[in-house]
Amino acid sequence: MTARQAAVLVPLFIILATILMVSPSGSIPAAAAASDPGKVPAEILTHFTPEDIVRGHAYAVGRYWLFAAGTALRLAALALLIATPASAALRNVAVRLSPARPAVAVAIYIALLVLIFELLILPLGYYAGFVREHAFGLSTQTRAGWLLDRTKGALLMLALAVPLGSLLALLWRRYPGRWILPAWFLGGAAMVVLVTLAPVVIDPIFNVIRPLRDPSIVQRVIALAGKAGIPVDQVYEMDASRRTVKGNAYFTGLGRTKRIVLYDTLLKGSSPDEVELVVAHEIGHWKRAHIWKGIGLSLLGMGIVLWCSARVLGWAVRQGRFHLAGPADAAGIPLFLLVILVLSLVGLPIQNAISRTFERQADRTSLELTGNTTAFIRSEVQLARSNLADLTPSPLVVWLLYTHPPVAERIRMAETFATGRQARP
Ligand SMILES: [Zn+2]
Repeated sequence: MTARQAAVLVPLFIILATILMVSPSGSIPAAAAASDPGKVPAEILTHFTPEDIVRGHAYAVGRYWLFAAGTALRLAALALLIATPASAALRNVAVRLSPARPAVAVAIYIALLVLIFELLILPLGYYAGFVREHAFGLSTQTRAGWLLDRTKGALLMLALAVPLGSLLALLWRRYPGRWILPAWFLGGAAMVVLVTLAPVVIDPIFNVIRPLRDPSIVQRVIALAGKAGIPVDQVYEMDASRRTVKGNAYFTGLGRTKRIVLYDTLLKGSSPDEVELVVAHEIGHWKRAHIWKGIGLSLLGMGIVLWCSARVLGWAVRQGRFHLAGPADAAGIPLFLLVILVLSLVGLPIQNAISRTFERQADRTSLELTGNTTAFIRSEVQLARSNLADLTPSPLVVWLLYTHPPVAERIRMAETFATGRQARP
């Protein structure tokens, strides 16, 4: 198979796999599920209407498709850049713009790559993030607001990709054949710095985030933290309602920037008991150091990715068919990114299985801290409804794409927890 054939066949294969995965044979067709209770988990039948099931499934299936289409598009673009003279031509344009300064030429080349990708993915992003979100009544954003977000995102991408990509190309030049270790070290350091700074530098670019003000909830949070034995004093609320009706919360940052952030949509749509449950879940992530564990696992992944990409780049240069001037040619960056993308797809089920384990642990902690299974189930149902969760996902979809356990499993877990407590003397 030639590189050009591979550029077409690999994305086709992914699309085909997705069709098989989300087609009715692969999952419970929503309409049938709604009318045939035998196929729907009991927890779902108890807490949701057939309309909830149909709507959630319809919204989710489109999202699975869009994930496949976006991935195929990125794979095809990277493969085409490297299999044709396109990447080398782009590098030549950059060199012509800055002939005397190779480092500036590399920076220009990376900026061009980022812009091409942003434009390429823009129509799909617009459909997924604006058109479809409005069609399902989830978005509260104007077209101008959406475009502003997108522009900010692209500028942020440039601000990160240009220095990091330039640094990588510099390592290729300085340490030919030995750049993996310094790249690993610098990449790891960049990751820790980014995770630390994101809550105070990146997140405020997109949202207004301020300390939680409702005194009754603040009091509950302090009490919960005391019970958990961790110093949680950083709870914030974010103006998510400027964008969406979906509710959510997250735990972010490192060291002094560590914090729990609650969407204002969650605060508005939930009772104090339910908010407490969500905070207790985030405290679970905090208590079990999931951010540090995540960083450790990412470092491991980064090592594997760098090692593999060094092998592939070396092979491509030896082949002499990829228009690369040598092992340090910045025109090889799309190949480097292609290796990252392919490996992250291969690693996705592992990464998501770990994420689901973390989520189960946080769920468990939230129940232990509050003992409130009723509020747990109510908040689970409320969030699933407001976020249009797929209530009957196929096991294959869960295995591949789910960062959280499915709704039915989380409800079942809470019910089992309640039974366990009653059984205890
Ligand atoms: Zn969580």
